[in-house]
Amino acid sequence: MVAILGMTAPAFATDDFSGRDKLKAHSQEFRKRVEKVTEGVYTAIGYSASNVTLIQAEGGSIVVDTSANPVDAKAIVEAFGDRMSHPVRAIIYTHNHPDHTGGATVFAGDDKPEIYSHKLLVTAKPDTGRGRRDGGDAFGTALPDDQFINAGTQLEYGRVTPHTREGFLPPTQTFDGDEESLTIAGVPIQLILTPGEADENISVWLPDRKVLIAGDVFLKTFPNIAPLRGLPTRPVEKWVASLDRLLALNPGYVVPGHMGTISGADEAKDALTAYRDGIKFVYDKTMEGISKGKTPDELVQEIKLPAELAQHPYLQEYYGTVAWAVRGIYSQNAGWFDGNPTHIFPLTEKERATKLVAMAGGTAKMLESAEASLSAGQFQWAAEQADYVLALEPQNGAATTVKIRALRELGERQMNATARNYYLTVANHLRDTQRHQSK
Ligand SMILES: [Zn+2]
Repeated sequence: MVAILGMTAPAFATDDFSGRDKLKAHSQEFRKRVEKVTEGVYTAIGYSASNVTLIQAEGGSIVVDTSANPVDAKAIVEAFGDRMSHPVRAIIYTHNHPDHTGGATVFAGDDKPEIYSHKLLVTAKPDTGRGRRDGGDAFGTALPDDQFINAGTQLEYGRVTPHTREGFLPPTQTFDGDEESLTIAGVPIQLILTPGEADENISVWLPDRKVLIAGDVFLKTFPNIAPLRGLPTRPVEKWVASLDRLLALNPGYVVPGHMGTISGADEAKDALTAYRDGIKFVYDKTMEGISKGKTPDELVQEIKLPAELAQHPYLQEYYGTVAWAVRGIYSQNAGWFDGNPTHIFPLTEKERATKLVAMAGGTAKMLESAEASLSAGQFQWAAEQADYVLALEPQNGAATTVKIRALRELGERQMNATARNYYLTVANHLRDTQRHQSK
């Protein structure tokens, strides 16, 4: 089987593994280190799924986000070393996601710090997503090390240490409006509601030091506006407004929720502007397409970022993609129906498969065609034909094998981590199921 895999692929786009190479290079973003953002502000990167920032204050420390779990949090405390003085006077959660809130007990210790968040965090629903189908998992938690590259915004998501939330502490101080100005242990701090990846996301602004700690409203990847794992489309208009708000601060330093920090007002402005413009472009073009009666499939083909945005390092499609954003924005604003009356009450998958397999001359012919497509490098079409056979014969071993091979080929050509992880996890699941059945 291995011999068949590489042998027949033709020498055009299907041999292009440059996406995978870019995704591998992207793992550099998550190498373990403590970055000095500016005097008195340090960020631990790569010790956990998300960043933890230490602010040195009068008579103690302030911690922004707490990593995924107590194990990671302990490693971060160790990495901060004597830069972190006790007591910890305050912990600030940028948002509710478990990779940011799971290690608070370790930072708090016996110090009894106040714990700050937006009020929305208290009622935020857990970001659980849909139930897994065929093992499908966008974070790659079940992939073996030799198949796993990264999870787009992090090296691992629950692969080594799970996100149990055992180290979560509930907020003791919440605010309700758009922003809150505080002085904590002598440090002036502004908490600004900046929804994006999460409704309750706040950005932490240190006006004296020009430091912006943005949470997940700003990341070094095209944002995951409509995630594969089955979540509602993120509030896109609010996301754009949040970035406008952050740009107006004119930060000198930016700490994102994941990956490396930015130093310098020009670089900060360039990155925040590109991020804002990228999201806004896709939103505007999708809304324009909706008003013209275009379908999501048409818009996915048409909407491409302009060259200067497409090449921007903060808009590479490691985590989200433009195509999924278009589909998400479409359904968020125009619903599920694409306007073609054929799609009001479509055939069931099984009815369609029955008719197409009959047209092809039966299951064996359809399989022959699927295998030929695989050999010709038409992996998507091979998977679709395998699905027609499997819709009629869910246990068909040859069709399952075609599907497994097609998913692997598709996965290995992805630069998007969540797509790669999903393809490869399902391929492994189908292979394991097949082995189990043949025993
Ligand atoms: Zn995050």
